[in-house]
Amino acid sequence: MNAIACHDGPFLPQMARILEVTAMTAREKFFRVALPAPLGHRPGQFVMLSLLGIGEAPISISCGPRDDNILEMVIRNAGSLTQVLHRLQPGQFVGVRGPFGSGFHLADFYGKDVVFIVGGLGLVPLRSLIQPILAQPDLFGHVTIISGCRTPAEELYREELQSWSRMGGERRPVTVIRLVDDTAHLPWDGRIGLVTAPIADLAMDPDRTLVALCGPPVMYKFAIMELTGRGIAHSHIFVDLERRMKCGIGQCGHCQINHLTCCQDGPVFRLDRIVDLQEALQ
Ligand SMILES: Cc1cc2nc3c(=O)[nH]c(=O)nc-3n(C[C@H](O)[C@H](O)[C@H](O)COP(=O)(O)OP(=O)(O)OC[C@H]3O[C@@H](n4cnc5c(N)ncnc54)[C@H](O)[C@@H]3O)c2cc1C
Repeated sequence: MNAIACHDGPFLPQMARILEVTAMTAREKFFRVALPAPLGHRPGQFVMLSLLGIGEAPISISCGPRDDNILEMVIRNAGSLTQVLHRLQPGQFVGVRGPFGSGFHLADFYGKDVVFIVGGLGLVPLRSLIQPILAQPDLFGHVTIISGCRTPAEELYREELQSWSRMGGERRPVTVIRLVDDTAHLPWDGRIGLVTAPIADLAMDPDRTLVALCGPPVMYKFAIMELTGRGIAHSHIFVDLERRMKCGIGQCGHCQINHLTCCQDGPVFRLDRIVDLQEALQ
C-alpha cells in the first residue's frame, strides 16, 4: 500500500478556508483555498473535497507542488455536492482529505520531450504537471500541449494556455495547440478539429517522448491509436483515469479496475500496466 500522506488520518478532513472563487465557464469555477498546513502533493494527485451534511467527491489538484498551504481546484457543477460548492464564497470553509493517488513522478520526465493531450476538464489535473515542467526549463525537453474542448465558451485556463505558448525558447521549445470541435459562432483564435488531429503532424522522437493524456473516455482510444501509429510505446504514455470513488485509500472497492484501485494505484497509470485490463479503458 502507498504511504497515505494525511495529517490526521485518512478519514479526517482538514478545514480549508476559501480565498477565491472565480467563474471560468458556465459550468466550471476556479477555487483557491488555504489549508491549515501545506498539502505536500505530487502532480496528478487528488483530494476528497467535502461539505458537512452534504457529501464528498474526488477533485483533482490543479496546481503544481508548492511549499505554501494553498490548493487550487476547478469544480464543474455536476450534481448534489458540486452545485452547493458553486454557491460558496470566500471566507467559507470546505473539508479536504488527501492528497491521494499515485500521481506523476517528475523524475520520470527529466530530459524527455513531453506531450500533453487534454480534452475539456482534463487540463485541470494535468496543469499540476505542466506548471513544474514549464518552471524548470533546464530539466525537460520540448513541451507540447494539445488542448481541446467543444466550443470556445468551454475553454479552461485560456490566458494560461496563451502565456505558456510564449514560454518557449531555442533551448526548450514550447508548443501549444488549442482546438475546439465547433466555434459556435464565437470568436476563436485556435484551430477547429478534434484534439487527436494534431498528433499525426507532431515532430516526435519516440525514444525521448513521454505523453500524458487526460480527457473524456472516448479520447483515450483514438489518442492511443494515433500515438501508437507514430511509434510511441505504451510504456511512454500515462493516462489519468476517472472512476466513481468513495474512500480514496483503496479500501472500499468502489473504483476498482480489475485488481487495481483507481484511487490508490491511479488515477495516473502508465499505459502498459493497464492496457490489457478489460475494465480500464472503456
Ligand atoms: C480522481 C478524480 C478526479 C476528479 N477531478 C475533478 C475535478 O478536478 N473537477 C471536477 O469538477 N470534477 C472532478 N471529478 C469528478 C467529480 O468527482 C464528480 O463530478 C463529483 O463526484 C460530482 O459530485 P456531485 O455530488 O456534485 O454529483 P452527483 O450528485 O454524484 O452526480 C454527478 C453525476 O454523476 C451521475 N451519477 C451519480 N451517481 C452515479 C453512479 N453511482 N454511477 C454513475 N453515475 C452516477 C449523476 O447522475 C450526475 O450526472 C473527479 C473525479 C475523479 C474520480
